[in-house]
Amino acid sequence: MNWQIAIDGPAGSGKSTIAQEVAKKLNFEHIDTGAMYRAVTLKALKLKVDLENEDDFKFLENTKIDFRKQKIYLDDIDVTKEIRTLDITNNVSLVSKYGYVRKKMVALQQFLVANKNVIMDGRDIGTVVLPNANLKIFLNANVEERAYRRMKERQEQNLETYDFETTVKEIIERDFKDSTRPISPLKKADDAIEIDSSNLSVENVVDEIISLVFERGYNMEKELKNENVEIQEEAQKEETQIEEEVVETAASTDENVEVEEETVEEEKAETAAKYKELQIVTGTVLEVISEQPESKQGNRTIKAKEERVLIALEDGQEGFLFKRDTANIKEDEDLIDLFCEGDKVEVAIKKIFPDGGKFIFSTVLLEKRKDLEKFGAELKRDTVFTAKVLKQIQVGLLMKYEEFSCLLPTSQAAVAESELGSLVGKEISVAPIRVDYGRIRIIVSQVLADRINARANKKAFLETLEVGQVFDGVVKNIEKYGAFVEISKDVEGLLHISEIDHTRVFKVEKVLNVGDPVKVKVIKLEKDHIGLSRKALIPNYWEEYTSDKAVDAIVKGTAVEINNSGIVMALTPEITGFLPKSEFSWDRDAKIEDSVKLGDEIEVKIIEIDATKKRIILSKKQLVDNPWASLEVKAGDIVDVKVTKILPEGFIVSVGKVEGYLPKSTIRSIDPNSVQLEQEIKVKVRVLDSEKNKLVVSMRDAEERIEREIFKSTMDLQDKMSNTFGDYLKQSKKK
Ligand code: C5P
Repeated sequence: MNWQIAIDGPAGSGKSTIAQEVAKKLNFEHIDTGAMYRAVTLKALKLKVDLENEDDFKFLENTKIDFRKQKIYLDDIDVTKEIRTLDITNNVSLVSKYGYVRKKMVALQQFLVANKNVIMDGRDIGTVVLPNANLKIFLNANVEERAYRRMKERQEQNLETYDFETTVKEIIERDFKDSTRPISPLKKADDAIEIDSSNLSVENVVDEIISLVFERGYNMEKELKNENVEIQEEAQKEETQIEEEVVETAASTDENVEVEEETVEEEKAETAAKYKELQIVTGTVLEVISEQPESKQGNRTIKAKEERVLIALEDGQEGFLFKRDTANIKEDEDLIDLFCEGDKVEVAIKKIFPDGGKFIFSTVLLEKRKDLEKFGAELKRDTVFTAKVLKQIQVGLLMKYEEFSCLLPTSQAAVAESELGSLVGKEISVAPIRVDYGRIRIIVSQVLADRINARANKKAFLETLEVGQVFDGVVKNIEKYGAFVEISKDVEGLLHISEIDHTRVFKVEKVLNVGDPVKVKVIKLEKDHIGLSRKALIPNYWEEYTSDKAVDAIVKGTAVEINNSGIVMALTPEITGFLPKSEFSWDRDAKIEDSVKLGDEIEVKIIEIDATKKRIILSKKQLVDNPWASLEVKAGDIVDVKVTKILPEGFIVSVGKVEGYLPKSTIRSIDPNSVQLEQEIKVKVRVLDSEKNKLVVSMRDAEERIEREIFKSTMDLQDKMSNTFGDYLKQSKKK
């Protein structure tokens, strides 16, 4: 029987990727049925038929669609890439709704799976195309995740891609059309297993599906198909060895077993064809021949003969049953105590003599086989038992479990083929995958046992798992949305990217890599989903520092970096703030290096806390009032300034609490080189910009202004005086 896996699901749920991987691992054929509907759409567009008219699709009568080496061919042309254009994507749901198109495609799909192990993905595989599939999966994921995957896939294949929003829209529209069409809509089959892959890696999903395949006995078929020949050959060899002894004994102890030498070849062939070893047959006891000791007949020695039962089958073929092959016979009992001439007996054929026509029968084997049947009937899913490895044979290991012999095929061993020998003599855990009634043994799998044990361990572990527990985990897998961390053997939880650190992580790989140890806390438990957090275990320094601080708080910090833009201040060993140059001093010309050096502790004021960017901006100048704001001077005023610094081209002078610049070129009436610190000079305010903290004064302007004022007042006085004198003259003339 061939194996069929059906995967259905909405657009972008990962069906094709997963199906391809599973197919690779199980050596199945993968058939992407979506590609077939796309190929039909491509041909319809090329032929420019009316897509709205179902009758126009009759071209399918003369259309060839097939798959070769994972590529799809339309009329013998490889169209694998061509069918992925947005034009096709936007029209395919319209085309796939037609009954005629579906009928054609379903027939072709069913034809393609004949005599093959296949995994087929699409929308109606579990419901319509392969209703008897051995395993049906309905793969789903949230629409954003599906859109993201679609975009990524298209970008990776260098295909034209919509932006995120349009992709979401396209997917929603297509899902709607696919699931509401009257014929074979997208639907989960009643017996399908639903897997939500939103938070699962491709590997996780593939593993899950392969586990299910194994559990449903896929290996049984595989063993039958692929290894049966080998197993049979090996079994033949091995059983021949065991029975050589019996044959020898039989032949040597019983001269009277007269092999009918005259038996014609055809008769022998007929017997061989009719019976096979280990077959169960019914016969009649002809005679219980008693034991005969060794005797002499003249010079001839007649060998001893064991007691035996001569049994004839319905067609007259005869054979013997010896005591060693008789079940339920006690040490002190003889065959004569159990068998009587004329008895009907059921026996298993233990050996057919090579020349045909004579058998060695066994009721021990018959019992074993019956036990095995009972075992087979009781064989449950998830059974694991411990069996002892007896020896290595060509196709695997021969083992013993209670009374049963078992075969562990190489492909089902959990160790490399080269290490199989090291298991001989050991007891190992295996799970039955098939009862081989013909060979009276159980075919077992160590791989499956490991999976079942892992599942059981996981179940037991999950039962004790609680939110809040902390584990030393190991990163097993990295995805764009987080890392899968193993917290116990075979138990993984998702450490979402937002749970990695208190600061925003943009790329998981920047913080964690596969194999890294990571301490995590369980923060969510939902069915089998374990949500983990790393940041929950890392002190939240930011939170701790800012919780009791607000803008305007005055704090202390240490200068850890001084650069062109300002000072980086360590406020605690873990938290830094930034003091921009512009916030250093009200004095525009003040140089940071003149008053602060690395390692200095200074007092600063917090002027901004940005919780999103985790940024603190500091100010030193705002610790004091802005002297410029309270300056009671305006441009044009004459003021007295005091020299505080002598520079090559001028002087820094102070006016009240601010400082300004007095260029040397404006010094008048005194020798510029004689100016001393602390010297008071009368100046005129030339430029005053309180916003920019800029003050420029001039001595010349002040002096000129003073002179102008003196001159003006002198002239005013003269005017006054001359008026009085003229008036006097006029008045005197009148008199
Ligand atoms: O899986 P993919 O996106 O390539 O499928 C393209 C389209 O083919 C689907 O949107 C659906 O309309 C159609 N389809 C279908 N039945 C299937 C597979 C695909 O109707 N079994």
